[in-house]
Amino acid sequence: MKKIWILTAVLCGCFLLAGCSNVNDTETLNQVSLLQGLTLWDYYGSRSIREVKELGNIGLGTFDGLNGELIMLDWVIYRANEELSIEVPSDDELIPFANVTFFDNDLSYELNDIKTIDELKAELDKKVEELGNNRIYVISIDGKFNSMHIRSERKQTEPYKPLVDVLRVDQTEKKLDNVEWTVVALYTPDYMDDLNAAGWHFHFITKDKQTGGHVLNLDLENGTIIWDFTDNFKLHLPDGKFFKSLDLTVNQDDDIKEVEQGK
Ligand SMILES: [Zn+2]
Repeated sequence: MKKIWILTAVLCGCFLLAGCSNVNDTETLNQVSLLQGLTLWDYYGSRSIREVKELGNIGLGTFDGLNGELIMLDWVIYRANEELSIEVPSDDELIPFANVTFFDNDLSYELNDIKTIDELKAELDKKVEELGNNRIYVISIDGKFNSMHIRSERKQTEPYKPLVDVLRVDQTEKKLDNVEWTVVALYTPDYMDDLNAAGWHFHFITKDKQTGGHVLNLDLENGTIIWDFTDNFKLHLPDGKFFKSLDLTVNQDDDIKEVEQGK
């Protein structure tokens, strides 16, 4: 009888540990592939939405075939399609590039009257100076925006072309006035500029979950910012033939800048 109790206790312990190691890892930023793979037209998804949901509950990215901008919020993965409308794709759909984490509130305060995205970046950079330039941050800003300029892109078909070329011909844009809700953003430090776009990357979704996309500009009336410090980083590389053959030594700094800023 005693043996059964010991066995039960050990088994329960194992289940608890297994549960804890997977769920609520709020300190790790998970990344599927490299942004530099995406810019070299590797739009082949390597992780399913189901798999990515096990890595976090907030984040950004894109979908197989570059089928829209990905925004993850409160455990749900949304697609901002070429119309800048929001859809919830099925768990089987594949993702070629994404950054996600389990969100926790490490720091929070109010933001007011920020007229442009450059002003917002300057404001956030000031805080990064204080908190540490060499850390990774995921933030959310729940707020009221006087205006919001977002973009997405048309789904690509093979043969794929480079991301800068896609955005020159297949980028779609929308300007919204007086919208509420969430910007999700990622900050990666300069030394990560061979893996991602160093600096800030912003996505947006409206409160009614009807519209969203990659943020090109904004005008924030007021909102609450939450910072999540994610000091661990885990890379999930694709296993695909195309990724394995990519020459990632090519300097893509200019392309990355153009891709992020849409200019
Ligand atoms: Zn984006």
